Amino acid sequence: MSTLEHIISVPDERLRQHAQRVGVITDDVVDTIETMKAAALAWENTRENEVGVALAAPQIGVLERIVIVRSHPDDKTDQEFETFINPEITKYEGELGAEPEGCLSIPDTYGIVPRYETVRIAAMDIHGAAFRMKASGFLARVLQHEIDHLHGSLFVDTVQDDAFYKITDNGKLTPLPTHEIDSARVLWNG
Ligand code: ZN
Repeated sequence: MSTLEHIISVPDERLRQHAQRVGVITDDVVDTIETMKAAALAWENTRENEVGVALAAPQIGVLERIVIVRSHPDDKTDQEFETFINPEITKYEGELGAEPEGCLSIPDTYGIVPRYETVRIAAMDIHGAAFRMKASGFLARVLQHEIDHLHGSLFVDTVQDDAFYKITDNGKLTPLPTHEIDSARVLWNG
């Protein structure tokens, strides 16, 4: 099985389940994180116009509270990731802003999702050390999206005014017609 095949997509019911907290960082946890990184990069290699910015463990079918986020999402050649184990949002700050969002588990689909400008995060690193951080802008959006995955929530649940898009071969977003949204919703909801 290739690493790409590890990424599951809608309507796989595991995307709708709650992930469990990680206790100790076992070899299995380390393996899961390495598989997640490889899977995100393998997915990206099949996509001309998209970056595998982040992944949550349920997206490879592992129901544990683990998230990885690209350290430098603007640079496809930089393949480093930050790891967040048991991440929690401890505070939302600033205004809600609506921007397009996509998901490796919902192919070719984008939607306009409102997210808070700034979040404060508490998590554990790969060595089991607790850390806190404040994230704003794009990183705040990515973390809100990924932490939603740990609760079985997908971005399509919170798209504003049915503003859904398809990505075309040249990387442009074109509006998804209403009848396609209706049939896609059956998939998204599992
Ligand atoms: Zn996602």
